[in-house]
Parts: sequence; structure tokens; C-alpha cells
Amino acid sequence: MSEQLIIALSKGRIFKETLPLLAHAGITPMDDPESSRKLILDTNHDDIKLIIVRASDVPTYVQYGGADLGVTGKDVLMEHGGEGVYEPLDLKIACCKLMVAGPKGQPEPNRRMRIATKFVNSTKRYYAEQGKQVDIIKLYGSMELAPLVGMADRIVDVVDTGNTLRANGLEPLEHMADISSRLIVNKASMKTKNSRIQALIKHFSEAVQRI
Ligand code: AMP
Repeated sequence: MSEQLIIALSKGRIFKETLPLLAHAGITPMDDPESSRKLILDTNHDDIKLIIVRASDVPTYVQYGGADLGVTGKDVLMEHGGEGVYEPLDLKIACCKLMVAGPKGQPEPNRRMRIATKFVNSTKRYYAEQGKQVDIIKLYGSMELAPLVGMADRIVDVVDTGNTLRANGLEPLEHMADISSRLIVNKASMKTKNSRIQALIKHFSEAVQRI
């Protein structure tokens, strides 16, 4: 039997949208992570397993070789920094934008801006590139709330339709980056399991063109 190939995915949108790509590569999971509590899912190939991890942990599993490959949002990858992984393919799924948003019509304050976000590293980099000094408040979710309770002047978050922003009296102000899911590969695995990984990249790439 050949060596195991482990693919890291997160539950929900990424898993669902990766299924057709896996199918194109002839890979079918034997369990559904929504109903199973298993963290390692068998597939129809004895030597290919899927591991189900938190979305923000996918790059870390791939970086340290806990998985050979992974599917992760560019927002998560930017925040992680991308050390130890290759990013060979844009899967063009789960598309959205990383944006600065703020209360409708509210100008920048005359002091250092306070920015609430879970994307601390990307936000630091973005403002540093503009030479702006800001205070960053780390949150883990529901960033939209922070300006409403006067805790922050702006938020940095991923935006799809903008409905969540509008529902909370906020508006998109600055476009930071276009986001989509990426296939990432552990650098050592790319050498040691090259032909299998290249075959998978080829299948995924064909599926992306088609879907
Ligand atoms: P929206 O359609 O802008 O109202 O998006 C609703 C919420 O879903 C946003 O606040 C984001 O936190 C989240 N969201 C939208 N698109 C994505 C995506 N591609 N990946 C992760 N989270 C997303």
C-alpha cells in the first residue's frame, strides 16, 4: 500500500464546496462531518484520509505536516502568514472580500483609530503599509457589534453580500483583499509525495475550470 495522504478541511462551507473537487479526483468521503463526530474521515481510497479541523487551524496542520494538503480561505492564510506551505491553486470557492467597515457616515476620529477584528496580522500589515498608527482590538466573532457599543471606530471583516454590515448600520469603506479558498500543500510532502500531489492538483485544477 502506498503512503497515506492526509487532507485537512473544515466543516461547513469549505467541506461542502470541496466535495465536488474531491469527486472529480475520484475521492469520496465515507462519513459526513456534520453528522459524524469523527475527526479523521475514511475515503473510498485506503490511503487517503480527510481530517476535520477548525478553519483557522488548517494552515497550521499543513505547515507542521499533520496534513499533506489542506483547503483554506485566503483570509485565514494571510493571517497565518503562509510559512511552510505552498499555495498552488486558487479553488475559486467561498469568494468574498476582506474589508474595512465603519458606522455609516462617521468620519475618522482625530485620535488613533481603534479597529476591532479577528484578522490582527492582516490589519496591522494593512495600516503599517499606509503609515497609519492604529490600535487593534482582537475579537473572535461578531465584530459588527464593536462600533455599535462605542468600543471601536472601524472593523476589519470578511464581507460577502454586505447584508450583515447593513443590518448593523455599518458600511464597507476600504477593500483590503479579494478572498477565495486555496489549496495548500506541506513543503516536505510536495517533495516526498510529489507525483500523487501533482495528480491531485491537476484534478482539482480541471474541476475548478469546469465548475
Ligand atoms: P454577508 O453576506 O456580507 O452578510 O456575510 C455574512 C457573514 O458571513 C460575514 O460577516 C462574514 O463573517 C461571513 N462570511 C461571508 N463570506 C464568507 C467567506 N467566504 N468565508 C468566511 N466567512 C464568510
